[in-house]
Amino acid sequence: MIAVVKETATQDQLDHFVKWIEGRGFKTNVSQGDNETIVGIIGDTTQIDPFLLESMDIIERVQRVSEPFKKANRKFHPEDTVVDCGHGVRIGGGNFQVIAGPCSVEGKNLFEIARAVKASGATMLRGGAYKPRTSPYSYQGMGERGLDLLVEASAELDMPIVTEVMDPRDVQLFLDKGIDVMQIGARNAQNFSLLREVGKTQVPVLLKRGLSETIDELLMGAEYIMSEGNPNVILCERGIRTFETRTRNTFDVNAIPVLHHLSHLPVVGDPSHATGYTRYVRPAAYAATAAGADGLEIEVHNNPSEAWSDGAQALTPAQFDDAMRRIRLIREAVTAPVEEEK
Ligand code: PEP
Ligand code: MN
Repeated sequence: MIAVVKETATQDQLDHFVKWIEGRGFKTNVSQGDNETIVGIIGDTTQIDPFLLESMDIIERVQRVSEPFKKANRKFHPEDTVVDCGHGVRIGGGNFQVIAGPCSVEGKNLFEIARAVKASGATMLRGGAYKPRTSPYSYQGMGERGLDLLVEASAELDMPIVTEVMDPRDVQLFLDKGIDVMQIGARNAQNFSLLREVGKTQVPVLLKRGLSETIDELLMGAEYIMSEGNPNVILCERGIRTFETRTRNTFDVNAIPVLHHLSHLPVVGDPSHATGYTRYVRPAAYAATAAGADGLEIEVHNNPSEAWSDGAQALTPAQFDDAMRRIRLIREAVTAPVEEEK
């Protein structure tokens, strides 16, 4: 349930109202925007009489929110959330960022890839040090040494790092190393202990959509993180499992505007995992940009045929450079004001 507070209400009246609600065993989420203040009331609100609230002096109107996600809900927080990823990079609310780099950190070639993607306009560097592989016999990542290489590359290039955390026991290590953005992978999208653990930090989290997750389930994953106190969540559409076998996954481009409608959190598209093949990555990246994504995550490798993981979907630095030029044009087209028809 949300209560929209009248413009004339004083801070004292608002504090008193919040205390009154909390005194009845509910949690609250106060969003003070430029134009209105909204109090989100969290708990079993069937016990609240909306007419009673509406009869209060400071309340403009009361609305029931049927969605079970509250903190991630745009109804509670009409303005877009802008997540500060460090190194001066902000995403959301009109700030568009491209995250690029190899699937896995493999060694010193990370620096070559990082320099190339930065030169082409990427603003964040990705690379997995802990890899969630479908087979336990596949390469599992460099672990801590991989994190160190990422931190070194981040310092050299002044770019925030995005890297996956798989285990709640590793979260402290990620904090100690100063990782800028923790990625939760598709296979862990509903690992609720991991979601809670990253929620106890203030480090931005890039939450990927689970392999067969609905949009609502993805938002409930964000809710887990936010309910622990971390508001810095970035959602990522990376393709879902369908009956289609020609591509690795099916890119749900629809999810981008749907997530923007339902939530204030930034939304990133990952055309690499969504398609699985280099030849389809650029068209899918353009589609995500046109659909209004706040950013993209794209795998790039200096020598895809030798990549330790996901070589089949990696762009070369030259392909990435070409993609970035077109992405900038598409971004301009979708954000430019259009003259009113006479
Ligand atoms: C990745 O980003 O390398 C990755 C494993 O992605 P996902 O979790 O979306 O499969
Ligand atoms: Mn990958």
